[in-house]
Amino acid sequence: MPSLIERWQSVQRQVADAAKKCNRDTSLVRILAVSKTKPASAIAALYQLGQRAFGENYVQEGVDKIKELAHLHDIEWHFIGPLQSNKTKDVAEHFAWCQSIDREKIARRLSEQRPAELPPLQVLIQINIDDENSKSGIALAELPALAAFIDTQPNLQLRGLMAIPKANATPAEQDDSFPQLQQAFVALQADYPSVDTLSLGMSNDLSKAIAHGSTMVRIGTALFGARDT
Ligand SMILES: *Cc1c(COP(=O)(O)O)cnc(C)c1O
Repeated sequence: MPSLIERWQSVQRQVADAAKKCNRDTSLVRILAVSKTKPASAIAALYQLGQRAFGENYVQEGVDKIKELAHLHDIEWHFIGPLQSNKTKDVAEHFAWCQSIDREKIARRLSEQRPAELPPLQVLIQINIDDENSKSGIALAELPALAAFIDTQPNLQLRGLMAIPKANATPAEQDDSFPQLQQAFVALQADYPSVDTLSLGMSNDLSKAIAHGSTMVRIGTALFGARDT
């Protein structure tokens, strides 16, 4: 089994290769290490190698690890899972980013509950591009209204879009959905100067995501190995 450093270098190489293929600057594609179900010790080990941004899907599990790793001062925590309104306070108080905003109520609560001594919560709007089975994320038609609402919230900073394409998408389906996201992202950037992040691509579709303008790939399995759950 490859070691953690081999996996990390391999993911960095895949990102660099994909960026080069489409003449993009590799430094404009960040790697988010998705650490759900993995112990704090695995996160600390990857941090020691230089990784800084980590993504968690479950609020309580994430908060526990954030507290355990509070001594890693410049670690950056992203919440990327479905968010119920009774859990917004924990996200507002402990995370630097929330990537899964899909309604006004959640955005308003996150802004209200963001502690005054912290910088604004960096947020992405989750788009449901092609997965009829998932209730997470909004349709592209709803994007202008939700972006405008987030822009009025004092303790949120709109940074862009996140999408989780359906797991078994065919190449033809990706060729349909990825460009739609890219266009929506470019249009959003024109309206909001703070927008710089398209969070698209996971372990098995990162090259195609980068070809379609992704600036952040969310990588779990390829870094930490398969999850038990
Ligand atoms: C689990 C998860 C990932 C990572 O998926 P891998 O296929 O393990 O790389 C990325 N994004 C989200 C939202 C996830 O829940």
